[in-house]
Amino acid sequence: MYRTTWMEVDLDKVAENVRTCKAICGKRIIAVLKADAYGCGDSHVAKAVLEAGADMIAVSSVDEALMLRNEGYEGGILILGMTSADDIPTLIENNISTAGYSAQWAEAAAARGCAGLKVHMKVDTGMNRIGFKDNESLKQAFDLLQKAGCVMEGIFTHFCCADTDLEMTDRQYERFRSAVEYLNYPFPWIHCDNSDATVFFKDPVSNACRLGISLYGISTYEKSLAYPISLYSTVMMVKHVKAGETIGYGATYTAKDDEIIATLPIGYADGLIRANQGRKIWIDGQLCEITGRVCMDQIMVRLEKEVPAGTTAEIFGPHISIETMADELHTIPYEIICLISGRVTRTYLWHGKQVTEENARLLKSEATDI
Ligand SMILES: *Cc1c(COP(=O)(O)O)cnc(C)c1O
Repeated sequence: MYRTTWMEVDLDKVAENVRTCKAICGKRIIAVLKADAYGCGDSHVAKAVLEAGADMIAVSSVDEALMLRNEGYEGGILILGMTSADDIPTLIENNISTAGYSAQWAEAAAARGCAGLKVHMKVDTGMNRIGFKDNESLKQAFDLLQKAGCVMEGIFTHFCCADTDLEMTDRQYERFRSAVEYLNYPFPWIHCDNSDATVFFKDPVSNACRLGISLYGISTYEKSLAYPISLYSTVMMVKHVKAGETIGYGATYTAKDDEIIATLPIGYADGLIRANQGRKIWIDGQLCEITGRVCMDQIMVRLEKEVPAGTTAEIFGPHISIETMADELHTIPYEIICLISGRVTRTYLWHGKQVTEENARLLKSEATDI
């Protein structure tokens, strides 16, 4: 690792979270690994969740599904989002299941030929994103796809307020139940729960749960999950500034006293957005304020006591939770971890051993003559 900024993912803890949630819901688990497993590395997280008993993997797009296939994953894989009917041959060839999400898509799929395509019908029960809003249009598309030779593998919906509004969740579930009953088809996969619903919502209709953010220990209701991810950087330079000196672009911070300022190699291009100015990170037992603007590649931090260059700094992890950081930034944990960019080295703990994955493009440029 040349640039000492890294995200640690403890895959043993991810696996533990799968086992915990599976035991709580008592259903099959569809691990949602979209967006490179929320920035944590989909092929690594896939290995962990599958060993821990996940039964299927879900992603958001054809690209993400193919990346997992290219890495050798042969099990069930479902695209939750929208696909183009033009990609149906690719989906069939690679045994990728996809969402049947609109009448227009179903017509285009039937028209171009979709025999053998595995489909999970999407019911829109209130999110108003994708899916069929009423039973009649759902049934029409279902019949069309079935006649065209699709394998009707599943039916699902998505809750929009499982973390905040349980009455809304009940109403959405009722809509879903009515859709499943209306089609009256023995779907192998029936699923409605996201992470939060997985641990509290009990229903007799669904037979699988979709687990995303709780793989990383984040849950509104379940507090026994493990926290697998931490983000670290390193104090690379320490300097003393005099009272009245300013720090960084725009000179937005003025030292009130003689202060000790550390510079660390992490910035907004790593996903540490500029709104982090004024927040605190953990250095050698102290919470230290990010002073001045967050630069593209670096931050300056006011130290509470001098530490040597080379000291590790925690951005989030054992001392600063992602939830706290999200609250302070007026966002959600998902956004924080998804934004950690590809430039940040990932280190993985797996079966108690540490594996460091260097930046993918660095490896490539070392391997090829440009
Ligand atoms: C992202 C997503 C999930 C996972 O949600 P979490 O809150 O992370 O568990 C489940 N289902 C669908 C349709 C999604 O888009």
